[in-house]
Amino acid sequence: MMGRTHDLATITALSYVVATQPPQPITLATGITALLVGLVGGLTPDIDQPTADLWRKFPAGSVIGRIFYPFLGGHRNISHSIVGILFFAWCSKLLLLKIGQVLLVDMNVVWTAFMIGFVTHLIMDTFTQEGVPWLFPVPFKFGFPPLKFLRVKTASFMEKSVVFPGLLFLNAYIYYRFYDKFLDLLKHYIK
Ligand SMILES: [Zn+2]
Repeated sequence: MMGRTHDLATITALSYVVATQPPQPITLATGITALLVGLVGGLTPDIDQPTADLWRKFPAGSVIGRIFYPFLGGHRNISHSIVGILFFAWCSKLLLLKIGQVLLVDMNVVWTAFMIGFVTHLIMDTFTQEGVPWLFPVPFKFGFPPLKFLRVKTASFMEKSVVFPGLLFLNAYIYYRFYDKFLDLLKHYIK
């Protein structure tokens, strides 16, 4: 999937969680940080790709990407698996808790957003032709639907004209369905 599809999928997942979970007493700073870090989480599994969107967002990123590349075993390996989820969950928690000592935001909320983005990425990639090695190091890539030719090809017409608009529609539906909740949230921060 393309970076912007992953971005939108993360926004969809975060919106759904905000809409369906009991309201959290978080500050606006925490909310904004959580959204941004969530988007980073949604691109993080692709750090095993030197040309990943995540790397392009940083200066000299593609150089750093090329250094990391061999360690992560090439595209769609450990960072696209359950082992990878646990590994990145642990690393990001340590890193965020460190940053949390100087930044006054609720790092548990921010970390949760990061993980939502990360897991959403793997779920989205499962719908692609390449599949996802969920059980790495078991060398089998899982995909849905099981028949490969029915899955989405990255940057294809299907992704751009069906998946992306589909996610937009899903967002619109979530905001429509939970309108009152989002309105309450907005009032809470505006007053
Ligand atoms: Zn990926």
